[in-house]
Amino acid sequence: MSDTDPSKPRRPSFSAAARAITIVKVKQRSYYIHQDFLTHYSPYFRAALEGPFKDAEEGVMSLSNVSTCTFDMFVNWLYTQEFPTPDEDPTPLGDPAYRTNFGRDGNLMTENLIDLYIFADGHDTPLLRRDVINQMCQRYWSQQPSYKAIINTFSRLSKSSPLRRFLIDSYCNDFNMGIDDIELRALLPNDCLFGVMLRHADKILELNGDKKVCEAYALHPCDYHEHANTAEDEQCKMKRRRL
Ligand SMILES: [Zn+2]
Repeated sequence: MSDTDPSKPRRPSFSAAARAITIVKVKQRSYYIHQDFLTHYSPYFRAALEGPFKDAEEGVMSLSNVSTCTFDMFVNWLYTQEFPTPDEDPTPLGDPAYRTNFGRDGNLMTENLIDLYIFADGHDTPLLRRDVINQMCQRYWSQQPSYKAIINTFSRLSKSSPLRRFLIDSYCNDFNMGIDDIELRALLPNDCLFGVMLRHADKILELNGDKKVCEAYALHPCDYHEHANTAEDEQCKMKRRRL
């Protein structure tokens, strides 16, 4: 997950990054973070801490609309470019709930990754967005995003967000009814449902020359005739063939 693009400025080194510590207040907690790391990865923090209209008072800034759980993950990524593991509980006294952030495979739950992406979107951290997408691409089939995650994403990210597109594409690729939630179905965003329709339509158009695909999506009248049994269904098909 490291940034290997030679055109990008090198990440700050710990030995050279000691010049300033920023205190970031999230809820009731204060995080002490090297300013160089914040400003290196995020134009948002660069503007807030160094820009001409900086809104942070000297060395201190407060963030709203973010949970300490998400900010913990962000800080971990900021220093390591890795996502946390179940053994790295950052809470001061150790919180049993911390482990619920991870799936059985030890990877962060998709919902947590999505929260991290939304944070990276609102606090302009492009490399973090890229790392989250890489993680999600690796395992969307084993940890499919829940309806709750879809509703959260579509309500908080703009229409042009690549994550919205990714979630639509992942549902088209492999939708598992095991995640179905009847109560939340009604709250699924229209943009998501319409996105799934469009994605299927685009793919069918693209694959139209493929006989197998055409057959899978072909429309057969008997599928809609409400025949009482297969014998009646067969009879109807024969009759129509003779016409
Ligand atoms: Zn029929």
